[in-house]
Amino acid sequence: MLEREIETLPWMEQLARDDASYRKQLGYLFARSAFYREKLAAAGCSSAEDVGGLDKIANLPLTDKREVKATCTPDEPIGTHLCAAPDEIVRIYSTSGTSGTPSYVPVTAEDLDNWVTGSARSYAASGIAPGQRIVSTYNAGPFVAGAALAAFERIGLSHIPVGTGNTERLMKAVQLLQPDAVVVTPSYAAHLVEWAAEHGLDLRASSVERVLVAGEPGGGEPAFREKLEDGWGAKVTEAMGIGDIGVSLWGECEEQSGMHLGARGFAHVELIDSETGAALELEDGVRGELVLTHLQHRAAPLLRFRTRDHVELWTSPCACGRTAPRVRCIGRTDDMLIVRGVNVFPTAIREVVSGFAPDVSGYILVKPEAVGVKQQPPLPVSVELARGATPDAALARAIGERLRDVLVVQTRVELVPWGSLRRSEYKSTLVEH
Ligand SMILES: [Zn+2]
Repeated sequence: MLEREIETLPWMEQLARDDASYRKQLGYLFARSAFYREKLAAAGCSSAEDVGGLDKIANLPLTDKREVKATCTPDEPIGTHLCAAPDEIVRIYSTSGTSGTPSYVPVTAEDLDNWVTGSARSYAASGIAPGQRIVSTYNAGPFVAGAALAAFERIGLSHIPVGTGNTERLMKAVQLLQPDAVVVTPSYAAHLVEWAAEHGLDLRASSVERVLVAGEPGGGEPAFREKLEDGWGAKVTEAMGIGDIGVSLWGECEEQSGMHLGARGFAHVELIDSETGAALELEDGVRGELVLTHLQHRAAPLLRFRTRDHVELWTSPCACGRTAPRVRCIGRTDDMLIVRGVNVFPTAIREVVSGFAPDVSGYILVKPEAVGVKQQPPLPVSVELARGATPDAALARAIGERLRDVLVVQTRVELVPWGSLRRSEYKSTLVEH
């Protein structure tokens, strides 16, 4: 454990500390954030005292990304939630932003240091130890994920960055430098298993004992994880960050029972019903949309930020001794489809389909017919067969029945030949409108 004293602190004590940080942060927002002064005034609060402590946080309005974005102008390109003076800001990241102008994510030196601390705890939870070698495939680039690279030095690892999109360089590093771990997206980890097989390389015989996956959901889904662990002959654990809040906030331990909050003390966690916005009780097995609040952030802090990630959460003790709650990402709101009133995540479809290995490759593509989220059944799903397998009506039928039983969704399964769905060196596209 990177910081045993902090990571094993009883959760109630953590919450007491967080409450003190939160009250201070509120004072800072009222003093410096035009965005929150206005937003909280509209909710009837004109000072930190009016708002109160963490026990009353659910009374405050939620913050949606679009709302922040709407305050950006040529004069205020970052948005009116910017609190820090220009000379306090040491770095400005941007998000990929699907439409035109990216969103900017500034950080102060202290913010950045806190990000690296949380990220280091999250990655260290995987069991990787100081002195070991890790190959990373993230680019420093414009994105927040680049800040996670500093976590590897913080842990005391020997870091071998190879960047995105260069499989030959990556495999050469694995063969020649004998790393103990690689950090990749789950899609890329799956692609590398196939690539190695095609090039006559035995990944199972490589030095890699841990595959750390992040960047998209999937690494924690049992059938998908089993496929990766089998292909690599290595233990797979996940990590997850939220661009606007911080890098690798969550990291899974060797118990593989969800990602612990590595950023404890820096971010406060809530879950809400994504339709009504109502706060949910944090108890074992609860599912909802993750809402996060910065507790000690300086540059552009957010309060009750809707992450659009749907997660399952657990609070029960973990055998590793870490006391922070754990989550598994079920999917992004942006990817969710509603089929006759039922919420369906493409990653959940992939997980059910992966249960049909070795008959299927594990690659799927959902092809909704209607524009937008709401779909009429049956939902068309292409399922890729395993190498050399021939289409079999009974298999398609069995997959359709399992999807209906597990996800309560009626689908039209089309089996497609091996290799016909696109592989990704970064994040997978599971839905194609
Ligand atoms: Zn644990």
